[in-house]
Amino acid sequence: MSRVTTMRVGGLTVHALEAGHQRLDGGAMFGVVPKPLWERRIAPDFRNRILLAMRPLLIEHGDGLVLVDSGMGNKETDKFKEIYGVENAGASGRTMLEDALAELGHAPADITIVLSTHLHFDHAGGNTYIPADDAEGRAIPAFPNARHIAHQREYEYATHGNERTQASYLAHNWEPLQASGQLELINGPAGTIVPGVRVMVTPGHTPWHLVVLIEDQGEALLYPADTVPTAHHLPLPWIMGYDVEPIRTLNSKRALYQRGIAEGWRVVFEHDAETVGGRLEEGERGVALGEPVAAPHPEG
Ligand SMILES: [Zn+2]
Repeated sequence: MSRVTTMRVGGLTVHALEAGHQRLDGGAMFGVVPKPLWERRIAPDFRNRILLAMRPLLIEHGDGLVLVDSGMGNKETDKFKEIYGVENAGASGRTMLEDALAELGHAPADITIVLSTHLHFDHAGGNTYIPADDAEGRAIPAFPNARHIAHQREYEYATHGNERTQASYLAHNWEPLQASGQLELINGPAGTIVPGVRVMVTPGHTPWHLVVLIEDQGEALLYPADTVPTAHHLPLPWIMGYDVEPIRTLNSKRALYQRGIAEGWRVVFEHDAETVGGRLEEGERGVALGEPVAAPHPEG
């Protein structure tokens, strides 16, 4: 039972890693889209929740192994996991992310860079973990040799939450990294992480949310993270109710599609339980997904 989907982007090897599932309210996932429309495409459970993947990326790069996002980690309570329908416990006492890395022959200590698209708990939760033998339940860095990169303004947004945003930001996902000196904050609207791996701010889901664009030898793969969390969110107005600035999400999506369709970008969806990704194409009504790649674990 593999947890890995491997792709080539020019000379780079990129793996989509199945790091578990969560279930979130379908209405919240589709914002203003009426339920009769979204439930035809994705059926909710008896609590109106839909099944979502957590799917970090691993980039094998000459400068080291770059992990983009890290799923939910192992630190949350049973009550938390019950509310959000989290299933991510791994075979090793860590999470399914570490299982997927092990399948590729990598230990957590092998990771060189961990890049967080934003600091929500289902994206940065795996950056730290609680060892099974720690009676006091202290969180420590999950990737002890990695530099952890996040956007300075996202970090400020995360650490100055309000009543609407604070439930998504849990300090134990970054404080141990600050204590160990592993957290690096970047600035500006775009930047290069390693040659061929760029981040761009796409405001909307959060004001300083990052997408990742991997480019090599004329090929490109976009990791839109929560700007387009599933294939169902490809249509421009299908925007999550969780987004703090949905009209800016709309504009971020429009700009990504303009370039992505013209340049034939492939895409990997972080939260789509059934579809790993495909290629951005011009459809009859806006953007369409060509060459879809099915997830190895759609069942949850
Ligand atoms: Zn998010």
